[in-house]
Amino acid sequence: GKAQIGVTGLAVMGRNLARNLARNGFTVAVHNRSPERTRTLVADHGDEGTFIPGETLEEFVASLERPRAVIVMVKAGGPTDAVIDELVPLLEEGDIVIDCGNAHFADTRRREEALRAKGLHFVGTGVSGGEEGALLGPSIMPGGSKESYAKLGPMFEAISAKVDGTACCVHVGPDGAGHFVKMVHNGIEYADMQLIAEAYDLLREGLNATPAEIGEIFETWNQGDLESFLIEITAQVLKHTDAETGKGFVDIVLDQAEQKGTGRWTVQSALDLGVPITGIAEATFARSISGHADQRAAAARTFGSSVGSLEVTDREQFIEDVRAALYASKVVAYAQGFDQVIAGSEEYGWGIDPGAMATIWRGGCIIRARFLNRIREAYDADPKLPSLLVAPYFAEAVQSGVDSWRRVVSASASAGIPAPAFSSSLAYYDALRRDRLPAALIQGLRDNFGAHTYRRTDRDGSFHTQWSGDKSETPA
Ligand code: NDP
Repeated sequence: GKAQIGVTGLAVMGRNLARNLARNGFTVAVHNRSPERTRTLVADHGDEGTFIPGETLEEFVASLERPRAVIVMVKAGGPTDAVIDELVPLLEEGDIVIDCGNAHFADTRRREEALRAKGLHFVGTGVSGGEEGALLGPSIMPGGSKESYAKLGPMFEAISAKVDGTACCVHVGPDGAGHFVKMVHNGIEYADMQLIAEAYDLLREGLNATPAEIGEIFETWNQGDLESFLIEITAQVLKHTDAETGKGFVDIVLDQAEQKGTGRWTVQSALDLGVPITGIAEATFARSISGHADQRAAAARTFGSSVGSLEVTDREQFIEDVRAALYASKVVAYAQGFDQVIAGSEEYGWGIDPGAMATIWRGGCIIRARFLNRIREAYDADPKLPSLLVAPYFAEAVQSGVDSWRRVVSASASAGIPAPAFSSSLAYYDALRRDRLPAALIQGLRDNFGAHTYRRTDRDGSFHTQWSGDKSETPA
């Protein structure tokens, strides 16, 4: 028989996706540029299911049933284009090319358009969950046409993670929709991790505790609203001891966070869409600051690196304050991320259901968390929700934590401990709910230097004041 699906690109991600498909009973054609990887896969895991190895791309394509479905799992960027270019001449109308790499959604839109013109389907698919997810059940975010999902859906849903019996996979929307939501997912992951890091830093300073003791606190938090994969592995990392030195593992790791680019893409796209994703942006910039070693050293020499005391008198209250600040800031970051999903969907005509995204992020992926259920419920109750922040459950969560949030942000500012994601999330919350913003003055300044006009609070229309003349106002 022929293969129902093929995977080309058998490094860790491709190999594990192929194994996952085979383990779920699908016949999988496998191929890799260097054929050793293909042979190794079949030699090491051939007993897990039915693989049809192809030494050449031609052999691989010929082993697929029609319409062919080919997953491309190679390095993002140029290599993905190179593989698509080799593959396309071997395919026939109606065949489906699936890019499961971390592509930029704009590249996916371009590739989809090019392949559509040739009568092929191109399905940019976000896959989250890393190596382990790919093997045991990732969260899968396929874009592309509805027709292609009719063939791919049953296979993808079978291999995806399941939560309460529901697959963590849904057809996100046309062309680049899948890679777009995967990008925002990664941006939210940046924000989540930065918030966790700030919470750890404040606890460490405030309690004068060891990393392992703070790991215990995170373990406790993982029993409540904060329950999530990232909180769980935070406890694991904080409790880990470096074998060589006997020190806490976090204390021997260089404090410069790296990035592969999805956070940056998310912020760039948010700027284009005009969506204030301050939490994700602060998290991305915080990684940049950490990496600027020379500037950090110069500033430490100039200003000194000592910090003041957080003046913790009640340890339990302080821990609760940090927890509440973390949760409220997290709600802000997710609210902003979902705003971006909705704005992207409107801009590109994708028709994305935000509640469905919350549903498929509950399992398999890095940001999997208990509270995503609440997000789905919020959009189910009101699909036109102006912001997640104002959904009753989240409004209550933020309101009940706001005093803690303010205490933590003011204490960190007084002590000189940076908490950029905590503080900017609080500023976002305060800005959204403020009745009058100083934006009115900005409009006045813009009209003064550039005749950019302004609107009035008391009547319709645009106006300009003759700033260098008699200061009279004229309708614009
Ligand atoms: P890599 O990104 O390291 O890519 C290696 C694979 O790409 C190999 O199979 C290699 O073939 C192939 N390749 C590279 N250049 C070419 C080319 N010009 N022509 C043909 N094949 C080429 O592999 P990973 O498994 O780590 O990741 C695959 C994709 O998945 C990437 O897009 C990555 O961003 C994404 N990814 C996603 C993760 C997630 O959690 N969702 C985690 C990690 C990665 P060869 O063996 O011949 O060199």
